[in-house]
Amino acid sequence: MQFETIGIVGAGQMGAGIAQVCGAAGLSVVLNDVDPHALERGVERISANVERLVSKGKLAPNQAEDALACIEASPDASALTTCDIVIEAATENIRIKQQILRELDAVVRPDAIVATNTSSVSITQLAATLSDPSRFVGMHFFNPVPAMALVEIIRGMQTSDATFDTTVALAERLGKSAIQVKNVSGFVVNRILVPMINEAIFALQEGVASAEEIDAGMRLGANHPMGPLALADLIGLDTVLSIMEMIQRAFGDTKYRPATRLREMVDAGHLGRKTKRGFYSY
Ligand code: NAD
Repeated sequence: MQFETIGIVGAGQMGAGIAQVCGAAGLSVVLNDVDPHALERGVERISANVERLVSKGKLAPNQAEDALACIEASPDASALTTCDIVIEAATENIRIKQQILRELDAVVRPDAIVATNTSSVSITQLAATLSDPSRFVGMHFFNPVPAMALVEIIRGMQTSDATFDTTVALAERLGKSAIQVKNVSGFVVNRILVPMINEAIFALQEGVASAEEIDAGMRLGANHPMGPLALADLIGLDTVLSIMEMIQRAFGDTKYRPATRLREMVDAGHLGRKTKRGFYSY
């Protein structure tokens, strides 16, 4: 299947980032959001990112203009009727996502692929909302989308080979590396990364070492570009906690229990960089 027109539902940090990389790859993009202000902010975010790339010499001014010209912002879901693929990147809430998929089912072409960027909702469960679940797939980008090389492509139980292969081809056209992942909680990256961060918090609460020493240990001893506690501050401690809870619920295994210190910090409103206080002060 050829793809030339991509629809993106949700113009937040992820939707805007996906729109930016699609525009840069020369695809026509329809960026949709129910909230006209969010749509405006999404377009402003893309323009600012693209300008930054031009000022750093990473993008020629004419390439920037071409990328921005490819992106049409529309608050109206009927603008998605021409799309070959629609990627849902709206708020992480199963009810909202199911409602969006029902609406998409009524407007997209019968041969269009529908993908979701969900971090935690079951692809199989979301697929069941569509009249043809074989055309549904998980396409999990990483934040910030223009900078991160990976996309996890997740098969639901119903995903067809053709849908899967086309989605991998799209990820490659966007300059990303795709890995195939089963529909299991946390997929691959969050399943490994977030329990590692949680373990670093256990080490801190047990007094094994200070935050600085734990982070230095993983930077210098495991060659991680950033220590796990600094990374937790960047992701947001509320997000780290909700992913741990989701993984623990899915597997029912106490090894995934969130560290008490993590819960306490979230209760205290010390969420990391976004509140200027987490394991470090900002
Ligand atoms: P966000 O809050 O920045 O943006 C969500 C957007 O969805 C908002 O602009 C909101 O107005 C819009 N929206 C809500 N209901 C809608 C509807 N019915 N129709 C159209 N738009 C609607 O969220 P985000 O961080 O961009 O996350 C979006 C998705 O990407 C989530 O599923 C999240 O789990 C996933 N994700 C996030 C990250 C991350 O680091 N933030 C990483 C990978 C995947």
